[in-house]
Amino acid sequence: MYTFSDRTTIPPSQTLTINALALEKRAKGDRIYNLSAGEPMIDTFPIIVEAAKQALDAGKTHYTPAAGVSELRVAAASWMHETYSTSYAKEHTIVTAGGKHGLSLLFDALLTPGDEVLIPAPYWVSYPSQVRMAGGKPVMINTTIDTGWKISPTDIKTHMTDRTRVLLLNNASNPTGVLYTREELEALLAMAASHNLLVISDEVYSGLVYDDALYTSCGSFSAYQDTVIVVQSMSKHFAMTGWRVGFVFAHEDIIRMLIKLQGQTTSGASTISQWAALAGVHHAEDIIRANNTEMQKRRDVLRDVFAIHVGVKIDPAPAGLYQFISLPSLGSTVIDSVAFCTDVLTNANVAMVPGVAFGAEGYVRCSFGEQQEELVAAVEALALYLEKQ
Ligand code: PLP
Repeated sequence: MYTFSDRTTIPPSQTLTINALALEKRAKGDRIYNLSAGEPMIDTFPIIVEAAKQALDAGKTHYTPAAGVSELRVAAASWMHETYSTSYAKEHTIVTAGGKHGLSLLFDALLTPGDEVLIPAPYWVSYPSQVRMAGGKPVMINTTIDTGWKISPTDIKTHMTDRTRVLLLNNASNPTGVLYTREELEALLAMAASHNLLVISDEVYSGLVYDDALYTSCGSFSAYQDTVIVVQSMSKHFAMTGWRVGFVFAHEDIIRMLIKLQGQTTSGASTISQWAALAGVHHAEDIIRANNTEMQKRRDVLRDVFAIHVGVKIDPAPAGLYQFISLPSLGSTVIDSVAFCTDVLTNANVAMVPGVAFGAEGYVRCSFGEQQEELVAAVEALALYLEKQ
């Protein structure tokens, strides 16, 4: 009956079936064990909530500039500088409605129809669809566990065509938790720059890095200031997913273009959320340290219960919120990850995300975003299911 634009020809979400089934079961009163959380199930810090209340009381309920609240732009840029040695200032910073909208604005701003974006796989589910919606063509660079889920400079070269415009990096990665070293990043950025590619570095998990590992922001390489764009978010390490605040840091010409696009679309992130985020950024060190410590504990609990109940040793993810686990390692003969996740949810009430959604069949993504007791109960239920197979 309706005709939709070519830009909407994106595949339906492969996690939809699983989510729908989980919701249906929950509605029937089933207890669903959640290993699929895409966020840290941690309450937002009281200091942030208090700042939101104060903003409301002070009548900060009007539009902000499309670029975001000026104080927040300044504070976010200096947080990046202090934490990751970048040299962004206010004019290199835009506040967006989450990292997700920052990415979407970037693809809209940078891609001419037919332009190609290199995306390491496994990838976060929204990348290919966002690229397609902007008229671009996602080109996957497949990685495997054998290369530590990492791409190399040669991979960039072999996947390039004369239409390649952007390399998308997700450090630390959802779903694999992979963390690149400074040297590895430098080599990738050098290769990208030598081919005139822009690099979008999605760093929304930069604060959830474990075992005292060092995090390198792609924004910290002065040689690549003009070719690197960093996407950040208040969602994960500040535990503020629902507030919808993120950032893009880039050359001011790019930021100016994003402001123009944002001004004609959302007008910006919620005013109240931005003032709340400002309090978060002012207390970034304490907040992120606390959230990081808690998430590392949860990661270790997940590892321990897998070892105890399932009898499987998983290598703890160096960063992020997820363990990416191969189905054969769980003793499963089923390799179809949607079939596996559907069966586990149907028969054991455990929700996980099928690897195929991230472009890696034969895997499942187990989140350790939930509270420790939930993780233990979920893995116990999964173990009982696996025993019966
Ligand atoms: N990038 C990655 C890799 C993610 O996993 C997510 C959320 O799951 C986002 C970006 C977007 O997060 P938000 O829009 O909440 O900032």
